Amino acid sequence: MTGVNPGLCASCRHHRVVKGAQSDFWMCKRSALDARFPRYPRLPVLSCAGYEKSGPPPNPPDTRRSG
Ligand code: SF4
Repeated sequence: MTGVNPGLCASCRHHRVVKGAQSDFWMCKRSALDARFPRYPRLPVLSCAGYEKSGPPPNPPDTRRSG
């Protein structure tokens, strides 16, 4: 991984790091479906309408009764 600061893309679920010979490229997977998003956004991305934090989906509500 290179020292480039990707900004929001780093924690966005729509990013993909493409390994290059000299450096890595941060690709936006949203670009495949939505022309508003460039395939390789200019970094660092500081503001993005498509940003969605990566991570596991939220836990379903706990329906167990207590007591
Ligand atoms: S949606 Fe925005 S923040 Fe997420 S990977 Fe694409 S450009 Fe980066």
